[in-house]
Amino acid sequence: MSGEKFQAHEIRDFIKINYKYTMGGQSKFFIELKNNKKLLGTKCTKCGKTWMPPRINCSECYEPADWIEMKQTGTIEVSTIVWYTTSAFIKAIPYGVAFVKLDGADTALLQGIFSENLVPSKVKKGSFVKAVFLKEREGKMTDFFFVPEDEYETWINKPEYEGGV
Ligand SMILES: [Zn+2]
Repeated sequence: MSGEKFQAHEIRDFIKINYKYTMGGQSKFFIELKNNKKLLGTKCTKCGKTWMPPRINCSECYEPADWIEMKQTGTIEVSTIVWYTTSAFIKAIPYGVAFVKLDGADTALLQGIFSENLVPSKVKKGSFVKAVFLKEREGKMTDFFFVPEDEYETWINKPEYEGGV
């Protein structure tokens, strides 16, 4: 046997698993998103930095942060257009993804940008965007997305979407 090349015997199969995971300290963000279409950030009780996405403790001074309701408008900091994705988003390509700094936030949130006419100039740095919500929300990041400000009315008039608060 020595000198013979190792060959593993492999069998193709699949495993189905039911599971639950917790959002832990960030749970309030997802509950308010689902039930009330609110986008909650946090504000550090010491240095005042506003975190969006929210952080339970400030990542700069490690003090606790309080929940605050954020505006649903913001500005694109950096973006790209997605052409390759997972099965969950395949029907949506091409679409934008961007780091969006909500008005009043000190940090940016990574989120999808949808447009009726997706061209790079629509999702460039400095573009103004507004949040649009799914009518059927599950408490997930995919419950909302951003659209260019001038397309907001078009998007919220589609049957599956609605405007925020
Ligand atoms: Zn702080």
